[in-house]
Amino acid sequence: MSVIANANMQADAASQKAGIKLTPKRRSIFALLLASQTPLSAYELAEQFKNEHGQSIPPMSVYRMLDFLTENNLAHKLTSENKFVSCAHSTCSHTHEVPQFLICENCHQVKEIGIKKEVFEALKLSVEQAGFVLKQSQLELRCLCAECSKAT
Ligand SMILES: [Zn+2]
Ligand SMILES: [Zn+2]
Ligand SMILES: [Zn+2]
Repeated sequence: MSVIANANMQADAASQKAGIKLTPKRRSIFALLLASQTPLSAYELAEQFKNEHGQSIPPMSVYRMLDFLTENNLAHKLTSENKFVSCAHSTCSHTHEVPQFLICENCHQVKEIGIKKEVFEALKLSVEQAGFVLKQSQLELRCLCAECSKAT
């Protein structure tokens, strides 16, 4: 099966699990994210959509679709990169934890892992003790992945 056909099946399974219906365009954008090994910007997604479907789509529309996907935890925005990744748990049945992203600075692959509850509570407490209000709790950590750290 092709990568995109496989991604389309994953997109269907994930949206079914989330109890939402994806319009064909949203589904295609989600499938492109699922098929990608690295995070993609809205512009890169618009570009890939055009290559795949021979139809152009304005980046603003892509942003709106990405908002929808992120609101439903099907995708996440990496603030530090201004790019998007598909959720690694979009077809899991457990509740979604506060995500922590390990970003390989060499090959740009991203791994999503949940933050342990006690780590998250400690973080929140230290923010509150400083008199700040936590607005976004996901963590993005610069790393080297297993392959890249072996290669150096
Ligand atoms: Zn996730
Ligand atoms: Zn999971
Ligand atoms: Zn790497």
